[in-house]
Amino acid sequence: MSKVKKKVKTIKIDLDKCNGCRACEVICSAFHAAPKYSSNNPARSRIRMIRDPLRDVYVPVYAGEYAPAECMGRDKYIIDGKEYDECGFCRASCPSRDVFKEPDSGLPLKCDMCEDLPPDEKPLCVQWCLNDALIYEEREEEVEEEVKVEDAQIGLESLVNKYGFEKIADTVARMSKKA
Ligand code: SF4
Ligand code: SF4
Repeated sequence: MSKVKKKVKTIKIDLDKCNGCRACEVICSAFHAAPKYSSNNPARSRIRMIRDPLRDVYVPVYAGEYAPAECMGRDKYIIDGKEYDECGFCRASCPSRDVFKEPDSGLPLKCDMCEDLPPDEKPLCVQWCLNDALIYEEREEEVEEEVKVEDAQIGLESLVNKYGFEKIADTVARMSKKA
C-alpha cells in the first residue's frame, strides 16, 4: 500500500499561562451554535475549563472521542496536593457523566478543530486565548493510504466485468488457501 502525507493538527496547552478566563469556552460554543454565533452556552463548548481558583489551578480539556461504555480503569490526578475527581480530566463523552454532551439533545460533542473555518485560520479558541495558553501546531505525517470502500467496489466490479465472476472467485479461493 502506498504512503500518503497527512496533515496533523494539534493544540498544545501551556497550563502556566492559563488564568481560567473561559474565553475559549465562550467562542467555541458561539461558533458551534445553530445558526453560528446566535447564542453562547459553555455547556455546548468542545473545550471545558476545570478550575480551582483558590489553588490557582486552571486546566483546559478538549472533547475527544465518544465512549459508548464506561471505562474499566480510572486516572487519579493530584495537583498541588489536591486530589481531583477520577473522571475530572477525561476527554470522552461517556454514559456515566453529563460533560461533553449537547445540553438539549444529549448528543456527544467532540472538538473538530473548527473545521468550518478557512484553512489558513487558526482554531477560534486559540485566537481568543489572549494569554497564549493554547498554541496551535501543524505537521505532516506519512501514513498508509486508506482504500476507500467505493474505490474497492469499483475495482472489484471492473475485475468481474473483465474476467468473469467465477474466475475471480476461483482466484480468491486459491489465494486464501495459500495464506
Ligand atoms: S478547536 Fe474549535 S472546536 Fe475545538 S475546542 Fe477550540 S474552538 Fe472548539
Ligand atoms: S482562553 Fe486561554 S487563558 Fe482563558 S481559559 Fe481558555 S485556555 Fe485559559
